[in-house]
Amino acid sequence: MQSYLGLLKQNGLKITPKRMAVIDLFLKNNRRMGPHEVYQKLSKDINPLGLPTVYRILEELKNIGVLIQIPSDDRQLYYMLCKTPDEHHHHFVCRGCKRVEEVEYCNFGAVSKFIEKNLNGKVEQHFLQIEGLCSKCR
Ligand SMILES: [Zn+2]
Ligand SMILES: [Zn+2]
Ligand SMILES: [Zn+2]
Repeated sequence: MQSYLGLLKQNGLKITPKRMAVIDLFLKNNRRMGPHEVYQKLSKDINPLGLPTVYRILEELKNIGVLIQIPSDDRQLYYMLCKTPDEHHHHFVCRGCKRVEEVEYCNFGAVSKFIEKNLNGKVEQHFLQIEGLCSKCR
């Protein structure tokens, strides 16, 4: 929990009971959840809590790297908790079982160099979504 709260602070987001409750819920449920499920689970204990607030908090937490957005075929939004939010890394999402694995490796440097050399630009950040089949599903 501590590293997640640290990330909130670093990004200028206040540590509020609602944000903490969302992170806590994801810590306790090691699977993907959408805004409606998060809302249903938290609205029993937190009053008042609106669905738009849940949407906003999920988006905020995604933007600072606490949550990962999981693509899905039903066009619904799903999120999961990132286990190592402090280090730059990527995620491998299984299209079969929707499992997310932390990919603690990045070789984007070559792409950055290419952009600097050929486009004379400077890369400040990048996002990479890797999909496929995990070891159990392939
Ligand atoms: Zn991660
Ligand atoms: Zn799988
Ligand atoms: Zn990277």
